[in-house]
Amino acid sequence: MSSKPDASRPRATDTKKVHIADTQMTRQNWYKHVNWLNVTFIIGVPLTGCIQTLWVPLQTKTAIWAVIYYFFTGLGITAGYHRLWAHCSYSATLPLRVWLALVGGGAVEGSIRWWSRDHRAHHRYTDTDKDPYSVRKGLLYSHLGWMVMKQNPKRIGRTDITDLNEDPVVVWQHRNYIKVVLCMGLIVPMLVAGLGWGDWYGGFVYAGILRIFFVQQATFCVNSLAHWLGDQPFDDRNSPRDHVITALVTLGEGYHNFHHEFPSDYRNAIEWHQYDPTKWSIWTWKQLGLAYDLKQFRSNEIEKGRVQQLQKKIDQKRAKLDWGTPLDQLPVMEWEDYVEQAKNGRGLISIAGVVHDVTDFIKDHPGGKAMIKSGLGKDATAMFNGGVYYHSNGAHNLLSTMRVGVIRGGGEVEIWKRAQKENSEYVRDETGQRIIRAGQQVTKMPEPTPTADAA
Ligand SMILES: [Zn+2]
Ligand SMILES: [Zn+2]
Repeated sequence: MSSKPDASRPRATDTKKVHIADTQMTRQNWYKHVNWLNVTFIIGVPLTGCIQTLWVPLQTKTAIWAVIYYFFTGLGITAGYHRLWAHCSYSATLPLRVWLALVGGGAVEGSIRWWSRDHRAHHRYTDTDKDPYSVRKGLLYSHLGWMVMKQNPKRIGRTDITDLNEDPVVVWQHRNYIKVVLCMGLIVPMLVAGLGWGDWYGGFVYAGILRIFFVQQATFCVNSLAHWLGDQPFDDRNSPRDHVITALVTLGEGYHNFHHEFPSDYRNAIEWHQYDPTKWSIWTWKQLGLAYDLKQFRSNEIEKGRVQQLQKKIDQKRAKLDWGTPLDQLPVMEWEDYVEQAKNGRGLISIAGVVHDVTDFIKDHPGGKAMIKSGLGKDATAMFNGGVYYHSNGAHNLLSTMRVGVIRGGGEVEIWKRAQKENSEYVRDETGQRIIRAGQQVTKMPEPTPTADAA
């Protein structure tokens, strides 16, 4: 049966309305691309807070309270939204879940349900179009552009959040999100400063508005800075990176390369000296009986990843070095031809059946010109391997770069066996490069060759 497309019939997609985010931004429609509600919360409100500092003096007590509340609400995001709900890296008792849902709401970054769904998509589709805050779209985009500009929600990768829908705390917070934000974001910080030391306005501006701004900017850095600055000790195929500065800014979420490799580990920093107050808090809650079932990858698994990444880096370095032409790509020479060419003045020397052109090296030979010249046109295998001098590993490496041919039959060693060894027995890295380890060069004899005159 023929299934020719019918041009006269409109395709299903043509009839659907195109989402504004999927259209080109122009001078006429740019304002339609902007998510004005988010602009108000992320940029507008902090701006009014900054202006109010001009006539609202900052009291010491209010400053200390703002910092403390910054940590409370920040941990609500990192220990609550992120490590508890998005990654289930530990379990928490009801009182702790309620506390984290409240202070997390005070950071004004959306509900747990919404935040965790996007974050799971971010992990599942890192750096792709389905990643809601892909750093591939630019550092600023991953920081806040993704919220300030409208996104087509259908483009964000699908994730399973059935577990979150079954958590009554998550459902309650999602349903009452605006009330939670107003209470925990602004009213509570103002009440504490007002009832505590009479600084109502200061509590509102510093512990409320400006503290929200700093917590937001800090946690946004997990999406931007942590995908842009630092090392990649576990995997460099994607953008997540480890850096102490990001860790300092984000309450310990800065070891992000580790985190993307081992997302359900309750730790981000695995060394005791690395800054991870989120991990310390979860550990403390465990001691207090508030948290349990802390998940941790075995160090054996973590070290495997680290070693594999190191190996990859070594492979890349090895690939840039000259290891000499592989034996099977060298021309085959007759022994007589080799001797003849050496007699005619070409600086050829045969070691282990491999012919090397050392013409330019004779004058630089550390053992002297005479010594190297005495091997020209001969089988110098034994001389090179201890008969006269037991050459260093470096010498074998250097020698391999001077290869020009192989002797048919191989002289006193079985060259073809050795060539096969180089081809088949040598381990290759993932790019197909031979790994030539120290002491395994084909010109190297397993034992120094003693000769009568060496004694
Ligand atoms: Zn990430
Ligand atoms: Zn995560």
